[in-house]
Amino acid sequence: MQKISVLLVLLFSIHFSFSQQLQSPEDFLGYEVGTEFTRHANVVRYFESVAEASNMVEYNTYGKTNEGRPLTYAIISSPENLTNIEQIRKDHLSSAGLLENDNSASSKKAIVWLSYNVHGNEASSTEAAMKTLYELITSKKEWLKNTVVIIDPCVNPDGRDRYVNWYNMVRTTPYTANPIAVEHIEPWPGGRPNHYLFDLNRDWAWATQVETRQRLKVYNKWMPQIHVDFHEQGVNDPYYFAPAAEPFHEIITPFQRDFQTTIGKNHAKYFDKNGWLYFTKERFDLLYPSYGDTYPIYMGAIGMTYEQAGNGGAGLGINTREGFELTLVDRVAHHLTTGLSTIEVASENIEQLNSEFKSFFNNRDSKYKSYALNGEADKIAALQRLLDRHEIKYGNTNSNRIKGFNYTKNNNSGLNTNAKTLVIDGNQPKGKMVKVLFEPNAKLNDSLTYDITAWSLPYAYGLEAVSSSDNIKSSTLVNTEVFENTATPSAAGYIAKWNSMDDARFLTALLKEGIKVRFSEKPLQTENEKFEAGSLVITKSDNAKFEEFDTALISIANKFNRKLSVANSGFSRNGPDFGSSDIKIINKPTVGVLQGEGTSSLSYGEILYFFEQDLQYPVFPISTNYLSNVDLAKIDVLVMPSGYYNSLLDPSTLNKLKAWVKGGGKVIAIGNAVSAFAGKEGFDLHENISSIKKDSTEKGNLLPYNVRERESIKDLITGSIVKTKVDNTNPMAFGYNNYYFSLKLSEDSYAYLNNGYNVSYLENEPQIVSGFAGSNAKEKIKNSMIFGEERMGKGSFIYLVDNPLFRSFWENGKLFFVNSLFFVNNNEYDMD
Ligand SMILES: [Zn+2]
Repeated sequence: MQKISVLLVLLFSIHFSFSQQLQSPEDFLGYEVGTEFTRHANVVRYFESVAEASNMVEYNTYGKTNEGRPLTYAIISSPENLTNIEQIRKDHLSSAGLLENDNSASSKKAIVWLSYNVHGNEASSTEAAMKTLYELITSKKEWLKNTVVIIDPCVNPDGRDRYVNWYNMVRTTPYTANPIAVEHIEPWPGGRPNHYLFDLNRDWAWATQVETRQRLKVYNKWMPQIHVDFHEQGVNDPYYFAPAAEPFHEIITPFQRDFQTTIGKNHAKYFDKNGWLYFTKERFDLLYPSYGDTYPIYMGAIGMTYEQAGNGGAGLGINTREGFELTLVDRVAHHLTTGLSTIEVASENIEQLNSEFKSFFNNRDSKYKSYALNGEADKIAALQRLLDRHEIKYGNTNSNRIKGFNYTKNNNSGLNTNAKTLVIDGNQPKGKMVKVLFEPNAKLNDSLTYDITAWSLPYAYGLEAVSSSDNIKSSTLVNTEVFENTATPSAAGYIAKWNSMDDARFLTALLKEGIKVRFSEKPLQTENEKFEAGSLVITKSDNAKFEEFDTALISIANKFNRKLSVANSGFSRNGPDFGSSDIKIINKPTVGVLQGEGTSSLSYGEILYFFEQDLQYPVFPISTNYLSNVDLAKIDVLVMPSGYYNSLLDPSTLNKLKAWVKGGGKVIAIGNAVSAFAGKEGFDLHENISSIKKDSTEKGNLLPYNVRERESIKDLITGSIVKTKVDNTNPMAFGYNNYYFSLKLSEDSYAYLNNGYNVSYLENEPQIVSGFAGSNAKEKIKNSMIFGEERMGKGSFIYLVDNPLFRSFWENGKLFFVNSLFFVNNNEYDMD
């Protein structure tokens, strides 16, 4: 006993004495940085030990990932600055007018934020973060006198550990640099994305993921002047740093462009000295607002992406095409160099950084002074939740009519307003971000871009909107309506509207509770109220066996703030009565979703996230590895993420799927999954045959070499917004208007179904309201189906050509998916 406690005391005191003493990463970890991949927990322990030992480091936790790992950041500055850090932060915000009613302070410090490892398998950067921390507080202390550095050592811990754990499991000892070894071939889904397989470097503006949501709270508190996002590219590319490539969004200021060059040249100095290759001004553009470089730029910072050769294929060392071995040690050295060089430039340019930062937030001269939005209260509330995450201000209005560009009509007809119209003032400090998120059409000075070219929020949220050059006064916000339903046991039933995701969550809550719910396939009218098709009807008769049915229903309705209308009788004044076959029972489907090789991990992740976090309805994955052997009778619905199914759906597996559908199964195919069925035997679905002759075909090989890339974009759509027609008498479109703005992610085009239902479609002259679409691509999508249903036997194939769950940000598309799940062809399969 005694021996043990002596040992414990001894251990404790060793730990204690160690923790008092500043250690290099090498000393702490027991290996040279870059010779092993460090597990996230050990990275956190190292930062903790440095914070304990140094008066130049404060280390905080800002949240937790889906898998329970801590999200952290270190604030690094001189001891004097750290004792006064809250005042420094406030002065920084105040001097730029970012504090409410206070712009009196002046700031003499630079704030630099370094974000590491947003893509989990680009794993050199978190290693570099530890070295950067140590160098800063030892050899580079001078810079910390006027500079505050914030280090987020790992933006995506779940992805990083997925990569590192896998690598450590399969690597050889010593590692092999031969690129065909298993340790260089990551299995599906790879370590790049987070737990829900979202790309966190596409999520800054939409803030759908828990990592982003928690990080933005700290980001908004600090609003750095410089933000760097550390990445890795292919193993055969050298190093990329700022300045970025065209297109630049037009709001990016001359200073922001120039300062990128200043920083880039400083990096070049070190790279040249060491004989390291790099490139600038290519490939990585600044347009889409949800990146770790553009988002900070639109929030006033110099936002930059640094790309080191490496990523999930590189391991501890790999032989490159160029004839040398790229090691993790090298990769760390390069990221360490650019990180420190960035801070050096900041420290040398304090005054300019502060004065330019301040002028960025003055938005008196913007073209659009205000944006105003009308629509369904739930959709407005969803938009408000997003604006709150970015701390963008909004209000209601007293004006009756606002002049300006009408988004729905695509002309300058203005908008009639009411007391609930939401107004966002463009002349607020974050006005530039407001413009980027709300402007009807982002101005492109080059269409060779890395990502989608359209994202305008009014279209994404399904709201009527106007952008106006008038300054619309906004008044205090009207309070959200609160519904306090009460039980009416004598009633024949209750009716609730159907047009938002809040309604969908209410439905799934009822189903999970065991309450039977119907929906009306036609409009109906009770004694005193009219209801659209799709309205939920909850009858006493269906729930006769449910004890305390009224109480349970009312409590769920109140929890979800849904208004329940009481129907005293099942006899409708107009439209179907409660017992009509047009008022259909909603089944509680058992849903499987395909995942694994062949499927897009991003699309699979979107579906999983949608079910678990958005709709809150159970789903389970089925691997493509065993689809051919699985007993499909155990599910009612199979969701197929976008993917390449050619080898998976061999004739026997396809026949099995068809037989299951004929017996009442339902397939929901998303994006490219639709192509798996096009032109196949027994299917009504066909690809649109393009009638256009391409210039390149006509001219054969006579196209100059240097214009081929540019020519090829004529065939492409990489994300633009189109206005589609909608048959909103079809249950798949209940809750929608007779038009829908769809985010079109590719030029894939399918002919109208002859025997099936074309629910959303394009006609002869597709109206692209926002974003880039190549001239050939525009031709190709004429007369094409966007959403449709093909029946086969008792079941259905549902085709969602445009992915309504894309990055979970196209809020107004989600109900098409929910309707497909619960409403479309629901009367054929057996109830459970
Ligand atoms: Zn990356």
